[in-house]
Amino acid sequence: VGIKLRQLDAYRWEIPQEGKMRTRGLIFCAAEMIPALRQDQSLQQVANVATLPGIVGPSLAMPDIHWGYGFPIGGVAAFDLATGVVSPGGVGYDINCGVRLLRTDLHRSEIAGLVQELVDTLFSNIPSGLGSRRRDFKLAPPTLKDVLRYGAAWAVKNGFGNADDLLHIEAGGCIKGADPELISGQALERGHDQLGTLGSGNHFTEIGYVQEIFDETLARALGVFLDQVTVIIHTGSRGLGHQVCDDHIKKLLQASTKYGFDLPDRQLCCAPIQSPEGEEYLAAMAAAANFAFANRQIITHWVRETFQQVLGLGPKALGLELVYDVAHNIAKIETHTVNGRPQKLCVHRKGATRAFPAHHPEVPALYQETGQPVLIPGDMGRYSYLLVGTQQAMEETFGSTCHGAGRILSRHQALKRARGRSIVKELAAQGIIIRGAGKGTVAEEIPEAYKDVEQVVEVVHGAGISRKVAKLHPLGVIKG
Ligand code: 5GP
Ligand code: MN
Ligand code: MN
Repeated sequence: VGIKLRQLDAYRWEIPQEGKMRTRGLIFCAAEMIPALRQDQSLQQVANVATLPGIVGPSLAMPDIHWGYGFPIGGVAAFDLATGVVSPGGVGYDINCGVRLLRTDLHRSEIAGLVQELVDTLFSNIPSGLGSRRRDFKLAPPTLKDVLRYGAAWAVKNGFGNADDLLHIEAGGCIKGADPELISGQALERGHDQLGTLGSGNHFTEIGYVQEIFDETLARALGVFLDQVTVIIHTGSRGLGHQVCDDHIKKLLQASTKYGFDLPDRQLCCAPIQSPEGEEYLAAMAAAANFAFANRQIITHWVRETFQQVLGLGPKALGLELVYDVAHNIAKIETHTVNGRPQKLCVHRKGATRAFPAHHPEVPALYQETGQPVLIPGDMGRYSYLLVGTQQAMEETFGSTCHGAGRILSRHQALKRARGRSIVKELAAQGIIIRGAGKGTVAEEIPEAYKDVEQVVEVVHGAGISRKVAKLHPLGVIKG
């Protein structure tokens, strides 16, 4: 609460290095956001991360920052491969939670009277809700291990989508070095019937349309046009990823003692990247990340089927193609230029999105001229954004930007705020059709529970760490 904060410019704030901090904190946010930020422990968490061994550059936070397990959500931290650490708290419980954006060739007038039916059909085709399971889609452990090894490619090989989809996914939909043998029996058990499920709460599939274009050239290059129908899918690695996180937090608590780390918070438990414990976590994390890529790929297939079913159109006419798929809870081994020299780092993005610029080798050929698409969901009542990565992000944030609006109300506070109201009716009056699986989910997810994503995006665009392309407005949402 009493954390020292120094304003650097309209979008940048610094936590000066002091005490056990090995570096400074750098927070991207606007002045109006500061009072709310001081309400929770997230600034202290930025300072805590700055004490970890081998941290390179500042301990970073994006404007959607809020309190998280150990590291703040909206946090980015890079560690030197040789001297640094990896921490499950820097990735989060939902390993490779992420977002994908699908485009179509449809003008929104073409689905005007059909949104309810689309929503209902999506709802029956995509198992949703807490512990949602797809009964006719159980995977025996040997097959599940292939999912963990190959990610989205497994899904494509098994009839969910096409090879072209893989070119439109971060890391091609498969994180290298995944080792399924490191996944506990309990995690496998939780995962065997959860592939192809949305999960609960903040996870969603949303039909919307392009409401505003900020950059015509970029939009055209990304296959996006005004009034175009779009679909956003937000989900992660379900119970499997959660269990992997749990399993490794236990192990890394022990490792932290073994390696003699002096942690300001036990939730920052970690291990050297190049230690057996660190390597095992990274290989297990990669496996869980691949499960999440496959999950979003399978759901994409059902979205396509739903549109074909309801609109009676073939895949060609629909043009339901993947714009991109980003991970927003992950640690990646990447090369960045530090003090003018290339350096191999482990970049933790927890509630943060990679935002690589044009001409970066890890950006697919298709986006070499535009930069990597960046997908920023807002909330179910207002809007979401499509942006691209920039060179500025490479220079300042290890090629990273925000991941969403960020919560401002706890689930409990949101429920209280929604009491006595029908959120479904309120949104219907605005032309937005909502179907929630879980009791209370819709109330917990009221738009007021989140910051206005427009303000969040203004910060990252203004600071230059990503660039606005288009704004999307919701029409129909299924919530977990
Ligand atoms: P997470 O919950 O994964 O940390 O963040 C995802 C982001 O998605 C949230 O910060 C919020 O801005 C956004 N979000 C949550 N629910 C919805 C929804 O129903 N529709 C859209 N478009 N965005 C949402
Ligand atoms: Mn997420
Ligand atoms: Mn998630």
